[in-house]
Amino acid sequence: MGDVVGPRLYCCYNCRNPVALHDDIVSKSFQAKKGRAFLFSQAMNVTAGPKENRHLMTGLHTVADVHCSDCREVLGWRYERAYEDSQKYKEGKTVLEKFKIVKENCVNTILQASVSCFQVFLGSEKLYVLFYVLAVKIGNSIGFVLLVDGG
Ligand SMILES: [Zn+2]
Repeated sequence: MGDVVGPRLYCCYNCRNPVALHDDIVSKSFQAKKGRAFLFSQAMNVTAGPKENRHLMTGLHTVADVHCSDCREVLGWRYERAYEDSQKYKEGKTVLEKFKIVKENCVNTILQASVSCFQVFLGSEKLYVLFYVLAVKIGNSIGFVLLVDGG
């Protein structure tokens, strides 16, 4: 898959819903309760829960949990407001917990990949399953099933 270039996505680990772009990472050094987390300038396909004030290590913040819009899994939180000047840069940005997201190549990039790339995908059952899921997601599974049968 190293030959496939294009925007890299982070997807919900549970349902593979694309939730953020690699290019939108602001910081990889955030700490969540269960390990590392990434700060993204924006996230997509997520819904925010109710706002609440939390006292974090870096001071008081108003935050909202963010859920995957498909499976409703809590993936992280969004900073609605920061009260310390040094933390203001976080406002409007989203933290996603590392273990709740998986990195994947962009759907469009995969669809544009050549037949040879497709055979590479077939070489790994796991990657094939991922490819099939992506194909189903765009409602185009029939064409890919035919490709598999022909191979
Ligand atoms: Zn999900």
